[in-house]
Amino acid sequence: MDLYGPLLEKALFPAFEAARGRPTVPLLRYLQGTERWSPEQLRDLQAGFLRRLIRHAYLHTAYYRELLDDRGLRPEDFDSIEALAQLPLLDRDTVRTSFDARTSGAPPRWVIQKSTSGTTGQPVVVKYNAESRHWRDATRWRGYGWASYRIGMRAMHYWGAGPASDSWVKRQKVMIDRVLKRDLYVDCTPRGETALTEAVTQLRKFRPQVIVAYSAGAAALARFVNDRGLRDWDDIPVIVGAERLWPHDRESIVQAFGPAFETYGCREVMLIGAECEAHAGMHTSMETMIVELIVREPDGRVRAAKPGETGEVAITDLHNLACPMVRYITGDLAVAHGSSPCACGRGLDRIGPIEGRVTDTMRDGAGNPVNGLVFNILFGVMSHVARKFQVIQRLDGSIVMKVVPNGGDQLPEKEYRAIHEFAAKYLPGAVFAIEYVDDIPLTAAGKRKVVVVEKPAA
Ligand SMILES: [Zn+2]
Repeated sequence: MDLYGPLLEKALFPAFEAARGRPTVPLLRYLQGTERWSPEQLRDLQAGFLRRLIRHAYLHTAYYRELLDDRGLRPEDFDSIEALAQLPLLDRDTVRTSFDARTSGAPPRWVIQKSTSGTTGQPVVVKYNAESRHWRDATRWRGYGWASYRIGMRAMHYWGAGPASDSWVKRQKVMIDRVLKRDLYVDCTPRGETALTEAVTQLRKFRPQVIVAYSAGAAALARFVNDRGLRDWDDIPVIVGAERLWPHDRESIVQAFGPAFETYGCREVMLIGAECEAHAGMHTSMETMIVELIVREPDGRVRAAKPGETGEVAITDLHNLACPMVRYITGDLAVAHGSSPCACGRGLDRIGPIEGRVTDTMRDGAGNPVNGLVFNILFGVMSHVARKFQVIQRLDGSIVMKVVPNGGDQLPEKEYRAIHEFAAKYLPGAVFAIEYVDDIPLTAAGKRKVVVVEKPAA
């Protein structure tokens, strides 16, 4: 019997969080109540948080004061979710240029700052206050809980590792977090026979109660397990994210491990949506954010996507007062759901599937598949030296990384070397070069593809 897991969930983790001044557990309990509220009650809750956000943004940020004043709007005008439509969408370029102007001059101050490449290869810096962080953490645990992942369970994380953190203190902290929560991290980037065999060995030894994975990574491992008839374990729920979960991949995962639960999030706001046990779309994190799926008409008009229609994901982060983001365009596309209630009984809106996060698979020098997402991770850490980037694998297998440096016409020596080392590690044997360019054009769909794998003409 597993005594340590429940003990960790009920006693140690709350004590640990409380000691760090984090009300994650009480917030989690709160969210497990509000998820059962009616859609109308949830929208009222959102409207209340929205009023607070807009008032704070108007009073304490230059950006939103000017935005509202220009449109003749007052904070009091934002008395419902629908009122949001009066404000423009916040695209990635504006996020970058308005960073200082959106930073609040009054408390709560930001305590966390991070940069993210999203999936479009253009880094964005976000910062947020402590309260926002607590909501993010609690929302993640709530969503994971729908897949029956509770704090304290043995979890195998099968995703990209990324370059090691520079700071020793940070590394120690990460390690303590992992040990306390009993997590095993396995890098899903190498997908050759040896790596997949090793992943199965680790899984058998660790006996995870839940797997958290990149969708394509979990699917590749699942196919490996199924093809060789390796499964000798009971159902393990698999929480997947970071990439679209295709129906055939879901089938492989269910066969190899157990039920699959899709999640959708981004580093700017964390968990946006998660699948419940009904497996019929993802419930959005309504208590922490307003999720809109919007369609831009050719005449410039913006409207909400109709049920079944694909729209751009726009997020209003309700608890980030330190550097507000209102109607932020994540760069992803998702299918709108109707308002019919979910079989699980939760009142939270649903979205999905997500359509815009498909990354191409690259090949290393020996022809082994490598997930293109590794470059997103890399770029997240390199954003202080480069504004845009794109990685192209040519037909002959050689790889060119196009970079728009951030100031100057090339990368500093340290980063230049780090990128080459990174490529040598994840794409061994492949010819790799960095090319400096002035700009990287968008695709016809208006997205910047991070990874392009050239394919022979049909
Ligand atoms: Zn549901």
